[in-house]
Amino acid sequence: MAAETSRSTFETFFESACTSLGYDAATFELLLLASREVRAELPLHRDDGSIAVFNAYRVQHHNARGPYKGGLRFHPELDLDEARALACLMTLKTALVEVPFGGAKGGIDCDPAGLSARELELLTRKFVERLHRLIGPNLDIPAPDVGTGPQEMAWIQDEYSKIYGYSPGVVTGKPIATGGSLGRASATGEGLAIVLETLLTHRGEGVEGLRVAIQGFGNVGRHTARALHERGARVVAVCDRDGGVHDPGGLDVADVVAARLRDGSLAGPTASSGASTIVPVDNASLLELDCDVLVPCAVSSVVTSANAPRLRCRYLLEGANSPVTAEADALLRRRGVEVVPDILANSGGVVVSYFEWAQNLQQVAWSLEEVQHRLRERLQRATLQVVEAAADEGLSLREAAYRIATARVKEAFFVAGF
Ligand code: NAD
Repeated sequence: MAAETSRSTFETFFESACTSLGYDAATFELLLLASREVRAELPLHRDDGSIAVFNAYRVQHHNARGPYKGGLRFHPELDLDEARALACLMTLKTALVEVPFGGAKGGIDCDPAGLSARELELLTRKFVERLHRLIGPNLDIPAPDVGTGPQEMAWIQDEYSKIYGYSPGVVTGKPIATGGSLGRASATGEGLAIVLETLLTHRGEGVEGLRVAIQGFGNVGRHTARALHERGARVVAVCDRDGGVHDPGGLDVADVVAARLRDGSLAGPTASSGASTIVPVDNASLLELDCDVLVPCAVSSVVTSANAPRLRCRYLLEGANSPVTAEADALLRRRGVEVVPDILANSGGVVVSYFEWAQNLQQVAWSLEEVQHRLRERLQRATLQVVEAAADEGLSLREAAYRIATARVKEAFFVAGF
């Protein structure tokens, strides 16, 4: 059986969108292939005196609608194929939410947890030393992804500005102190809650009382837990790479977030809260818990044809990029599990990245209320477009989202010419 990867998953969904739009094979290929793919070697003097060599990648997929845009991932399993699939997803995501960007993705195949702060800084700066000619405020704008955050963005901004002068617009998701936007850190999680709420309201349902299980408790997972809890949902389970906690009665989200930030793991709340209903859960069994909404917020391809038959959720909200393989997606659809696709569900991050970039170019700073109001407006509009297209044409939400986004990218690509 062929491996179920994010690359094969993206190609399956994208080919089906191109076919349903009537595009020929040459157009599909043209839209699929990246404009540029780069791999660079990054040598590093380790603290212990040894030398390590890491691979850096940047895949720039399309820029017909604006500069390339996408995250930087620091993860040992990152490779060129994964970066390719994630870069294509970004092109569709920016088109779906109508922000003037193309798509890109990249990173370094390192485990940040195994590096000291000094090593991490040197490696991040080395990335810019090797790739600075390919990034820039009007060229390609990186952002945080798995294993990176505001600190890495600040180092990139600093290194880039040494060469080109003050350039806050070269990255988004940077600290407020160096030109970051209010509301960017919480944007992806907040966006997931807005999309789910808009979808359910359209169907005459609500978020209140829904039982939610979240895999991955980094930037996206944590803010999703908080945003859904604030809307009255019951967060029954959360987990990290090393395991997590489950309470069918609902976890105290503030307590779990505080414990995770304090201890760096989710083992704390079990021990400290004393609540006998809290039990440990590992990140594979969390996916199979009885819940209303499952939200994978970690890495790609965690729901495959192997575990999809055992999922017990009604909705699967894709916080991570490409967490469900194409084979699993078909199985879930047959079982009546509604999947809210990544390019819609987790697009709040790139929407506020766009706001951050726009503020940087104009040298202004918006209030948190303004950022949140504009985010809500944009995501509600995109969600309703997808929900209505799906209902009108008998499509899944993913098929509808892909079709809308693909048509926009194709139009820009062909009207500009090549
Ligand atoms: P993060 O590094 O802050 O957190 C990642 C989480 O995943 C951590 O809890 C980590 O323990 C867990 N994890 C890592 N490897 C795992 C594994 N093999 N199995 C289970 N859990 C694992 O990253 P993040 O920024 O929260 O990103 C999470 C996902 O959301 C990624 O797929 C990313 O592409 C996507 N995403 C992020 C943003 C953003 O704004 N940060 C925007 C859109 C999509």
